[in-house]
Amino acid sequence: MRYIDEFRDSAQVKGILDEIESLGLREGINLMEICGTHTHSISRYGIRGVIPRGIGLLSGPGCPVCVTTEEEIDAIIGFARENRDVVIATFGDMLKVPASVGSLEGVRAEGSDVRVVYSPLDALEVAIGEPEKEVIFCAVGFETTAPTVGATVLKAMELGVDNFSVISLHRLTPPAMRSLMEEGEVRIDGFICPGHVTAITGSEAYRFLAGEYNTPCVVAGFEPLDALLAIYMLLKQIKDGRAEIEVEYSRVVTPKGNTRAKRIMERLFRVVDTRWRGFGLIAASGLKLKEEFSLYDAERRFYIRRMEAVDKDQGCRCADVIRGIITPEECSLFSTLCRPESPLGPCMVSTEGTCSAYYRYERR
Ligand code: SF4
Repeated sequence: MRYIDEFRDSAQVKGILDEIESLGLREGINLMEICGTHTHSISRYGIRGVIPRGIGLLSGPGCPVCVTTEEEIDAIIGFARENRDVVIATFGDMLKVPASVGSLEGVRAEGSDVRVVYSPLDALEVAIGEPEKEVIFCAVGFETTAPTVGATVLKAMELGVDNFSVISLHRLTPPAMRSLMEEGEVRIDGFICPGHVTAITGSEAYRFLAGEYNTPCVVAGFEPLDALLAIYMLLKQIKDGRAEIEVEYSRVVTPKGNTRAKRIMERLFRVVDTRWRGFGLIAASGLKLKEEFSLYDAERRFYIRRMEAVDKDQGCRCADVIRGIITPEECSLFSTLCRPESPLGPCMVSTEGTCSAYYRYERR
C-alpha cells in the first residue's frame, strides 16, 4: 500500500478484523500504545470498540506535555513572573497546563511575555527579530523533537545569535518502557511502539523489551489500518509464543533509524536521569545540552529555580492515567469538573493527552 486512502479502506479494515477474530484470542490481553498520536487515532477511529472485548488497549506515557513534571512547569512560570522582559517561547499545548503556582497562560495574562511558537526555529526567529530581548524556548518532547531543537541551537551558533537559549525538558521513550516493565503495576503483553519516535531511534531501540522482558513490540503508523495491523501482529506473536520487534510502519521506520538526526542528538545533548510525572526518577531518560553549548542552555544562563510543587490535591489522576493504571473515565473529575475548557490536568489539556482523546471521541 502506498497511499493514505488505502490505510482507511473499509474492505481492508474488515479483512484484518476477521484475521484478528480468527486468532481466537479474546481474554485478558493488554497491549499498550506509547504515543499520544496513537492514543488519539485509536480513540478517533473507534478501534477499541471493534476488536475482541478481552483485548485491552492501554495508553502509556506518550504525551510529552503530560509527562513534564509540575515542578518543571512551576519553575518556568516562576521565572516568567520575575522576568517580564524575557520572552518565553513555547508550544501551545504547554500554555494551559495547570501547575501548582498557576499556568503559563495565567502569567501571560499578568503581563509576562509568553509566546506560542510552532517550532524551535520560530523561537530563533523571534530572537533574531528582537535582539534586545532574551528568548527562552521551552523544549518539550521526545526523540522526535530533540534533533530539531539541536539543529536550531547549531543554527543560532552559526548565525551568532546570543540572545536565544533553550530549557531542555526532553525525554527518551525506551527508559520509560523499561520502567513500566520493571514496576509491573499493569500487565503489558505487547507494545504498540511510536511511529514518529522510532523513525528517529530505529526499531532496534526496543530490542531489550523482547530480549529481557519477553514482550512483543510492533512499531505502527497512525491510520486505522496501521493500528489494526499492529494489533494483529502483536496478537499473532502472542499466539505463536514469540517476542520480536516487528515494524508495521515500514514506509517510514527502519531498524537503525535516522542516523543524521541521531548524530545531532549525540553531538548536542547528554543523557541524564530525569523525573517524569507519574513515574518519579527514571535513570538515563532525559536530555540536557552538553557543557560546550552552555551559552544556549537557559538553565545555565539564568537562575531558573526549581521548587517543590505546592500540593493542591484537586484529585487529578493524570499520574495514574500516564502509567495506564486507570482510564480517564475512572477519574471522578473526567467530563464533570475536568473538561477541555477547564482542564485540571495536562492529560486533558494536551492534544496528545489520553483524557482529551477520551473526552473528544469516547465519552459516553
Ligand atoms: Fe486529570 Fe482531568 Fe484526566 Fe482526571 S480527567 S486525570 S483531572 S486531566
